Amino acid sequence: MSSERIAVLADDNLYVAPNPMFCTGLTTKGKRCSFLAWPRDCGEWAYIVSRTGILYAIDAGPGWLPEARVQRCDVHTDAPAFCAPEVEPFDPQRHAFLVQPLTDQWVRL
Ligand SMILES: [Zn+2]
Repeated sequence: MSSERIAVLADDNLYVAPNPMFCTGLTTKGKRCSFLAWPRDCGEWAYIVSRTGILYAIDAGPGWLPEARVQRCDVHTDAPAFCAPEVEPFDPQRHAFLVQPLTDQWVRL
């Protein structure tokens, strides 16, 4: 079970989250739950342009952050955790891999 990392815009802040975002609950078989904690590709794609490049982010809107901080499906809301939630604040240095460099196709201001 692997996920790519994507940028998410929520409540006017940037976060990095797995996509798809699987539940972090521990199943009765001692494994990580394979249910989604949030629908894949929810929200509209937005992009943020900076001097160093372009960051594509999903604009998740209100309601995403409280659920993302818990990262549980409906079955495992109170179950023990397999692992900690994987959503974290965007860090320009650690998450530089998400920023695409500007090319000549983009007009530099
Ligand atoms: Zn679950």
